[in-house]
Amino acid sequence: MNTLTAGTIAGEFHARRVYGLKREVLRLVEEVIDDGVFHGGRRIRELEVVAGERWGGHAVGTSSGTMALETAVRALGIGAGDEVIMPALTFVSTAFAVAAAGAVPVFVDIDARTRTIDPTAVAAAVTPRTRAVIPVHIHGLMADMTAIRALADRHALAVIEDCAQAAGATDRGRPAGSVGDIGCFSMWVGKNLGGLADGGLLLAREAALLPLLRKLTDLGRDGERNTHHLRGSRGRMGEIDAAVIRHQLDLLPDWIDRRRTLADRYADAFTALPVVTPTDAPGRPHTYYKYPLTLPDPATATALATHLGRTGITTEQVYPHAVPDQPALREIVHRTTDITVTLDVLPRTVCLPLAPELTDAEADRVIEAVHGFLTPRV
Ligand SMILES: *Cc1c(COP(=O)(O)O)cnc(C)c1O
Repeated sequence: MNTLTAGTIAGEFHARRVYGLKREVLRLVEEVIDDGVFHGGRRIRELEVVAGERWGGHAVGTSSGTMALETAVRALGIGAGDEVIMPALTFVSTAFAVAAAGAVPVFVDIDARTRTIDPTAVAAAVTPRTRAVIPVHIHGLMADMTAIRALADRHALAVIEDCAQAAGATDRGRPAGSVGDIGCFSMWVGKNLGGLADGGLLLAREAALLPLLRKLTDLGRDGERNTHHLRGSRGRMGEIDAAVIRHQLDLLPDWIDRRRTLADRYADAFTALPVVTPTDAPGRPHTYYKYPLTLPDPATATALATHLGRTGITTEQVYPHAVPDQPALREIVHRTTDITVTLDVLPRTVCLPLAPELTDAEADRVIEAVHGFLTPRV
């Protein structure tokens, strides 16, 4: 068995997932070794074709989600002096990718209920230097892409979707990554669709972008081994990762269903408690990469996390800092607008364990432990 200890409910379940797929993964690794092709073979081609068909675009595998974002920013010609608007609630890579291109991240607030970027805040942050907006489909819920797309078109901005947490999510039936100019996915092992370690994927709306995306992720090469047309990155995905992720792509819909079932179980159990539970937005079903529970105040959130920890249930605060408050941002030129909602919500948040591998019995233990701490509203 693996290192997961009986009796403990950890916040991250990808070790269980990989363990559950062990036989299949070993078979795929063996096939790749027998073929002797480790890059640029039929497995990455198949992953790109199938992902492109299912998600409505033209896909290029990458070495990580961070690499996908960096590549997207560069491919759209964003650079020194340009501003790129993004939510203050995201993983740092969204900001790092913009900074890597020499551009300026501009942080705006989120909508309190959905935690996705607030379109009104985006509109207020646009300046003559604004070149793009990066909506982040946070915790598995898509941002309001109808509003973002309309706003971007009005101001002639590019749209890069950060889909790292939302593989398989939709907005009014449109898959994550298919509405913006480029969608960026992470296939880090802990994401809803994750390989064995790190991986990612670019999804371009226009096929015309493909040659540039490939060059940027393959050291500037264009098929020829020792000719480099531009300064690209070592950013491609290998055959083993592509094979594993291709296999998981077919399992993703069931995994998302299971996440939604567990989220319903939590929501039903917590209706009388003084908490706000995450839920769908109109036309945008949640895929629950995370299950952020909002408590009345920071002290209660901290105390709940401690209480659950004592009973062997690991929770997470995603994230402990708004991105502009991350220490690393001291060395990045950036601009922050009014982010009151983000700063209010983050310290009141506790993410409960939720993953397809979580059993009903474990979910019930979490529910019981939460009820052991919070008293129903009267
Ligand atoms: C995980 C993540 C990334 C970065 O992806 P990696 O594969 O870890 O490099 C970017 N943005 C968001 C919102 C993420 O959650």
